[in-house]
Amino acid sequence: MNYDVEKIRNQFPVLALHDKDPKPFAFLDSTATTQKPEFVINAMDNFYRKHYSSIKRGVYSMAAQTTDAYESARKKAAQFINAKRESEIVFTRGTTASINLAAWSYGRKYLKADDEIVISALEHHANIVSWQLIAEERGAKIKVIPVADNGDLILEKIPELVIPGKTKIVAFAHISNTIGTENPVKEIIRTIRQIDPSIKVLVDAAQSAPHVKIDVQDLDCDFLAFSGHKMYGPTGIGVLYGKYEILESMPPLEGGGEMIDQVTFEKTTFALPPDRFEAGTPPIAEVIGLGAAIDWLNQVGIEAIYQHEQEILKYAEEKLREVPGLHILGAPKHRGSLLSFTLDSAHPHDAATLLDEDGIAVRSGHHCAQPVMKRFNVPATIRASFGAYTQKWEIDRLVEGLLRVNRIFA
Ligand code: PLP
Repeated sequence: MNYDVEKIRNQFPVLALHDKDPKPFAFLDSTATTQKPEFVINAMDNFYRKHYSSIKRGVYSMAAQTTDAYESARKKAAQFINAKRESEIVFTRGTTASINLAAWSYGRKYLKADDEIVISALEHHANIVSWQLIAEERGAKIKVIPVADNGDLILEKIPELVIPGKTKIVAFAHISNTIGTENPVKEIIRTIRQIDPSIKVLVDAAQSAPHVKIDVQDLDCDFLAFSGHKMYGPTGIGVLYGKYEILESMPPLEGGGEMIDQVTFEKTTFALPPDRFEAGTPPIAEVIGLGAAIDWLNQVGIEAIYQHEQEILKYAEEKLREVPGLHILGAPKHRGSLLSFTLDSAHPHDAATLLDEDGIAVRSGHHCAQPVMKRFNVPATIRASFGAYTQKWEIDRLVEGLLRVNRIFA
């Protein structure tokens, strides 16, 4: 395979700039957020410099062009995850907002006392707390699919936890942001459908959208959430995919302009999805940026990116073994492009601070997944994560940096 990582890296201004530093910047935090390619930056810059206007409200040609650009990004997002209809794509602020929208809008209408919501032990707080809030309001209960020591979910427990007639929603991550576990989404959904086809399934694709080809029709999920900023696009934009019939049955969460059909002081009727869920002036430049990010991902090829990242992951797993006292969390059957680990010599925050002195950017802490830390008996971890632009020298620099941490704390 001819994957020219050097050429790809040079498309990222932040990386290209700091590759010239005396200590070249090793950016190993793509799970938190990815750097942006020139292509995305230019798309947003062009919009502000050459075409700027609001959408839908103007009859003048620039407003019509902007509306076309906005809706064409929706089409790209629909194609990106193989949604049946463009109207199944709701633009949100990001994965967190997408999960909250599904939880509050679907939950308020359909959840009642003693209903159950099943999540997994590997979730990011976004896919825990959103459900806790709605569960508390409706008097529903949360159950958790446990995780084995290797970081794989214990799928055999699903038939015990998911109860026909009682379980209303199952929500879980495609790829965990702490252990990196890549869950067999299709298999999990098939199991749930066999138990009770009326249960709604939400997939948190924040960590899979930039790495794995997603086909919502093949997966047969009801909702899927992802963020632009984790897939080479801008912050402040994300997607909630929902099967159209389900979205159509859900009430709006926010009221305002563009989400209505008719407004009177006595009664308001609402627009059809997705407009129903997009009240007010949306983040237009960000939507255009997300469309550009999808174009960019399609040009490079998501499968090629995945293979590259898997190569880097294998290299990192091998190289990190050279660091005495380093423990990688979990060994799942399939792992996305990230590794969480601890060091015997230093607390993750101290290690990350020392690595930063060497120009090595990793994440330390609980990664918005405190229950995972508790499950694996660690207060925090160091997390190194990889993207389309990651190079082996960055891993080498990480290993050198960790050996230095060991020396300092010895
Ligand atoms: N879900 C997972 C698995 C994540 O990794 C993240 C962010 O790290 C989120 C949800 C929340 O994404 P955002 O902060 O973009 O809303």
